[in-house]
Amino acid sequence: RAKEQGGGTVCRYDPAMMAATVERARLRSLLAGALERGEFHLVYQPLTEAAGGRPVGVEALLRWNPAGGAPVPPSTFIPLCEDSGLILPIGRWVLETACRQLRRWQEEGHGELEFAVNLSPRQLRDPALVDNVRGALAATGIEPSRLVLEVTEGLLIEDMAFSRQVLTRLKELGVRLALDDFGTGYSSLSYLNNLPFDILKMDGSFTRNLGDAGRENASGQAVARAIIGLARSLSMTLVAEGVETPEQLAWLAANGCTLIQGYLLGRPEAPQAAAATLDRLAAEHARRQKERGDFV
Ligand code: C2E
Ligand code: MG
Ligand code: MG
Ligand code: MG
Repeated sequence: RAKEQGGGTVCRYDPAMMAATVERARLRSLLAGALERGEFHLVYQPLTEAAGGRPVGVEALLRWNPAGGAPVPPSTFIPLCEDSGLILPIGRWVLETACRQLRRWQEEGHGELEFAVNLSPRQLRDPALVDNVRGALAATGIEPSRLVLEVTEGLLIEDMAFSRQVLTRLKELGVRLALDDFGTGYSSLSYLNNLPFDILKMDGSFTRNLGDAGRENASGQAVARAIIGLARSLSMTLVAEGVETPEQLAWLAANGCTLIQGYLLGRPEAPQAAAATLDRLAAEHARRQKERGDFV
């Protein structure tokens, strides 16, 4: 190994790397029974219209609290679940739990919410996926058009024909498809051409460069404007992720972004708190509408 790296390089024992490997192995074994032990739960983050702030839905995000340990972030445990195949039963649980929650919210009168669920690329390879989605919708009586399936760019390109086939079968159920974290991967534009996405989620890293008064970032704005224009010319809905400041929101609304998501509106929260946040956003929207009406 040291030889491969060329002269002068010494292959050393790296304690930090070793510790990380041991930690991953420990988490992997804890994950194996985590679903059965009920250690997962979903939190829900609101999405609103950029112009006017009407809340339109939520994204369901997975959380893992191992018994007796600190919560582990999805960026750590989801890749481990993908490697082991555990993402299949967990992904199914996510889908069913989110559908049941939406059903509950509908019964409690929260109305016309959309809800988005993340799918890992590994789930797209699961021959049971389409049936699982159909089953989760049927069991809860949720209209398919309420469900958005979010897919990251990651592995779609590896087999574009296969990806298109699966995504098309999902669309035939009546659900909508979102391309998540758009702009961070590679070959993004070929996905748009070849795959049946309805929604583009612009990655939060682009939002970060927007609208900070005094720290204008011309190239950041140009890129965001181009992504918004791309979505519009392809008749896709654009969601800006990671909106944290009123300045970012104002910029996005002024530049034709459709929907926004971010800590400014609400953090991902447990169902009851998320419902309260949705009610607050709806009340703020109604108040703004009324004020606008009063001025006309
Ligand atoms: P994502 O689908 O792009 O989700 C958005 C992430 O951005 C979430 O991180 C959310 O908490 C975070 N976020 C939202 N608003 C803001 C903001 O204003 N500022 C910042 N800095 N961050 C914000 P989270 O919950 O840690 O999830 C990370 C990723 O893990 C997700 O990215 C998604 O790819 C994956 N993931 C989460 N839940 C699931 C799941 O149920 N299944 C699968 N397959 N993947 C999931
Ligand atoms: Mg997502
Ligand atoms: Mg995203
Ligand atoms: Mg992400």
